[in-house]
Amino acid sequence: MPTPLLLRATTVVDVEAGALVPGVDVLVVDGHIATITPTGTTPPGDAEVVDAAGHFVVPGYVDMHAHPLGLPGASDALELMGAYGITGFRQMSGSPALLAARATGDLGLPADGPALVAMPGDLLTPVNAGTVEAAVATVREQHALGADFLKVASVTPAVLLAVLDEAARVGIPVAGHLPNGIDVREASRRGMRCIEHLGPGVGITAATSTDESAILAEAAAGAKSIRVPKLRLPGMARVMAKVIRRLVVNPVTANTATDVDVLARADATFDEQRALDVAAEFVAHETWQCPTLIRVRTQQLADDPVHTEDPALRYVDAGTLRTWRGSNARFAKVDAGARATYRRNYALQLRLTKLFEEAGVPLLAGTDACGAGWVVAGHALHQEFDEMAAAGLAPLTVLRSTTLGPARFLGTTDRQGSVAEGKQADLVVLGADPLASVDALHDVVGVVRAGRWRPRAELDAVKDRIAAARSLR
Ligand SMILES: [Zn+2]
Repeated sequence: MPTPLLLRATTVVDVEAGALVPGVDVLVVDGHIATITPTGTTPPGDAEVVDAAGHFVVPGYVDMHAHPLGLPGASDALELMGAYGITGFRQMSGSPALLAARATGDLGLPADGPALVAMPGDLLTPVNAGTVEAAVATVREQHALGADFLKVASVTPAVLLAVLDEAARVGIPVAGHLPNGIDVREASRRGMRCIEHLGPGVGITAATSTDESAILAEAAAGAKSIRVPKLRLPGMARVMAKVIRRLVVNPVTANTATDVDVLARADATFDEQRALDVAAEFVAHETWQCPTLIRVRTQQLADDPVHTEDPALRYVDAGTLRTWRGSNARFAKVDAGARATYRRNYALQLRLTKLFEEAGVPLLAGTDACGAGWVVAGHALHQEFDEMAAAGLAPLTVLRSTTLGPARFLGTTDRQGSVAEGKQADLVVLGADPLASVDALHDVVGVVRAGRWRPRAELDAVKDRIAAARSLR
């Protein structure tokens, strides 16, 4: 355990009340917040005392959609996330090997990196969920292996509904992508716990269209599915994982004319009342949204210099950059009409995010880091904060989506999600008031990870080391 730590004369941000608590000392002992008292505390003799006057203490950030585990260079990705104030992450793709390694404490996560807050088994795809029967068997299998949730990636509407029913029966949450052709309200009613990327694709916006039935029919008829060889060979899951990894760099580059057409129609026929009705279903059935706006933006506006000339690319290894540029070469061949459709669709996703937030739909901040093109681990969560702000979300809402929201989603508010006595000491110390502006969330003065103080100089040194190694995938 680290030595006790006193953050002296600081301001605690109460993320539940949305209020500032100025003039307090935060004492951290054994990795937990021991006391929060008016300034003037005499710390234990061996305590490290940090003058935090003029600073603001918030809970550590959680990236609720990332894929670092199982990649080469995972530990550098995790350390980089830690240097950006991320103290927790939800791994969105697992495997029997990763679940087994976690069970035996052999994941080898760096101590300064974020904690793993949840992990599924293998993605549900036509490989393991090609039919209702196979999908039901996979649900049971992954539940038995200790998966925290199921991640649905690419299945048919009928399979998704069967997965939701079986998952409800065995008691495991389902998160992931909506299949083309699904009625999202039905998925919500059947217990889908979290929808990623607002779909992706036409996803939710099929249901917000006055032309819904035609769009669903067209989307379902034009649905691409990953072709799976009939023979089940050993190692096939690994091969499929590789195929999926290439595709996920930018799925938009594989879009068909139908995909683009349904997006354009969904946009042109968007109806606010229908969107409010969908939101009401999400609220009633507690279906969370993890919009990963930065992920949607980097695919639909893939050639924006904001992404292709991002200074944070200094962390990314040469081979990965080549892959991203190769993907952009395919994106460059997308015709002007389709590009305009993507730009309009991204604006619609921002509007939808704001509308859902106002309607009380619970939101999670996520990035899709470690897989998605132009999405740099750690840095991307800060971009996500900015995209949420661009959508019109208040600074407190953005802060909650990465702190209190994840704790509520995970059912861990007894120990995480706010700065309060007894909670885990995973904290970010900011140089400006995060209730006044989202910009303050980027002004990381230091991080407390499992009770240990890490000043900005240490965080910058981690970033510089990773930039020198260019090891990020
Ligand atoms: Zn993902």
